[in-house]
Amino acid sequence: MQARPEVLAYVALGGNLGDAQVVVRQAMDQIAALAQTRMVAKSSLYLSAPVDSSGPDYVNAVVEISTTLSAPELLLHLQELENRAGRERPYLNAPRTLDLDLLLFGQANITSQCLTVPHPRMWQRAFVLVPLAEIAPHLVSDAQISAVSGQTLRRIPAQSPSN
Ligand code: AMP
Repeated sequence: MQARPEVLAYVALGGNLGDAQVVVRQAMDQIAALAQTRMVAKSSLYLSAPVDSSGPDYVNAVVEISTTLSAPELLLHLQELENRAGRERPYLNAPRTLDLDLLLFGQANITSQCLTVPHPRMWQRAFVLVPLAEIAPHLVSDAQISAVSGQTLRRIPAQSPSN
């Protein structure tokens, strides 16, 4: 069987329950450890006020991975990580321990029952575009960043090794 080519994919991470910084950092490590996948770049962590949701501020980040998984396979792995983090869905847009969204999968345009790529709401969200622009500036224009500049976002300084 022919091996599938490597595809660059971008995944947004977010959470606002429990120790969200720890949850998001752990999720980054778990994504790096996925089968057929390697981590290419990790953004800083950011804090954002909930949009269409409630509870404490969200911790957000974006990662770039290279994978030979298919997009639906990758989504299944991401959903497994959400479930492992104890995510429950009591109602639409409820606060969540971990939310993982597949933003981009190479050049693919996907519209299926379980997957829409590029992610339909990514261009409206500063908490996606700013971390994405940090690790992949060629994918986000200044105009796209300006369009979401009214949304408050704070970068969390990197942890020093002694912390
Ligand atoms: P959420 O509650 O935000 O985690 O939404 C999860 C639902 O969105 C699942 O049913 C997914 O199948 C669907 N979905 C559609 N497109 C995407 C995408 N690009 N990334 C993640 N979930 C997606």
